[in-house]
Amino acid sequence: MSRPIQARISLRALSENLSRVSDFAPRSGILSVIKADAYGHGLLEAAGALSGSAGFALLDLADALKLREAGFRQKIVLLEGCFSRDELRAVSENGIDVVVHCMEQIGMIESVRVQGKIGVFLKCNTGMNRLGFRPEVYPEALTKLESLESIGEIVLMSHFCCADGTAGVKAQMAVFEAATSSMKYPRSLANSAALIRYPETRTEWVRPGIMLYGASPFADEDAASLGLKPAMTLSSKIIAVQQVSPGEGLGYGPMFRADEPMRIGIVACGYADGYPRHAPNGTPVLVGGRLTGTLGRVSMDMLCVDISQMPDAGIGTEAVLWGEGLPVEDVAAACGTISYELLCAIAPRVPVSYY
Ligand SMILES: *Cc1c(COP(=O)(O)O)cnc(C)c1O
Repeated sequence: MSRPIQARISLRALSENLSRVSDFAPRSGILSVIKADAYGHGLLEAAGALSGSAGFALLDLADALKLREAGFRQKIVLLEGCFSRDELRAVSENGIDVVVHCMEQIGMIESVRVQGKIGVFLKCNTGMNRLGFRPEVYPEALTKLESLESIGEIVLMSHFCCADGTAGVKAQMAVFEAATSSMKYPRSLANSAALIRYPETRTEWVRPGIMLYGASPFADEDAASLGLKPAMTLSSKIIAVQQVSPGEGLGYGPMFRADEPMRIGIVACGYADGYPRHAPNGTPVLVGGRLTGTLGRVSMDMLCVDISQMPDAGIGTEAVLWGEGLPVEDVAAACGTISYELLCAIAPRVPVSYY
């Protein structure tokens, strides 16, 4: 027997979640976002389960090339574009599209001789203030690109900062529409939150990420009510049980002290597995199918759960850290973070299996 931690990933959930995207945006081409090792789900495995997508979006050229080598023929978009002329040559040879978000990148394209054409997602900064041309220079960037022989298909693109919150997409949509109204190209705007809540963002290309993995992008609406199924279940087992007396602590530091006799399960999962060290007391854990919570500081390899009210729980009892039966969003909310961060932090030492 090895250490009992594991991540089990449902390929069926991934493809069913992809169908949910189509339900929301039936007329859009779906660029499944598989950056960060498909949000921790495994690049090639996830891409396989999502092969019904019209394309994929990710960051690293090396990953894009792995997809091409594995035989994926769909559109592939590099979300930060290229970082060198060598990369530009490679994308043109492999039919990979790039985001172009600054004049420096246009200059780089201008200065390189490539074989094929390069498809471009021209990014407009409509208020996120991360990547993209400001609306007032966007037309000039487009004109410049149109003059380059090496440029293939062009897609007009932007990204929303607040589609998951109360501010919504209205202001950014207005900026984008004003900047692009006279431009006759397909558009790509929506992430998961936008495509679910704002029909006007379901343009030619949509870019769902988190919803494919079965997590809700919203704090006020859960995945189940959106028809999404969690793809990843992170689980382990209790490997020791401690009877703790009043006044005694648990694990490192002063984070928890018992004020009554307690029964504590020690679960083989710690921050070196990707579980957040800053999880507070009471972060939800499913032990033997019943909800309880963590107590004390999460350590590198272990965490403690309260099993005082669970006489049947003992060494060997399963603990689900998130996934089936315990939404990763709930664990993330307890830890003051978002599901994205937990999913993509899954450590390489955690064995992954697919079903
Ligand atoms: C990550 C990312 C997405 C996907 O966002 P989700 O919230 O996971 O749906 C879409 N577009 C861009 C540019 C991204 O970086």
